[in-house]
Amino acid sequence: MWRHFCTVEKTVLSNKEGQSCNWCDAEEKTEACYQGLYWAYPLRKYMRWPEYMEYHYWESKNNS
Ligand SMILES: [Zn+2]
Repeated sequence: MWRHFCTVEKTVLSNKEGQSCNWCDAEEKTEACYQGLYWAYPLRKYMRWPEYMEYHYWESKNNS
């Protein structure tokens, strides 16, 4: 399984290995580049890439 933040579903989704997302055109190989932890600010917390994407998505919604 691989995970990504889906901008269509607006949530973190799990997808089967070797399959692209049903909702958007996210692919496992593209998401696989984003390994490790990312520093979320102003939350001041390390997050995995899908959660980091989700956090910034809602953060930018709140600011607009
Ligand atoms: Zn998706």
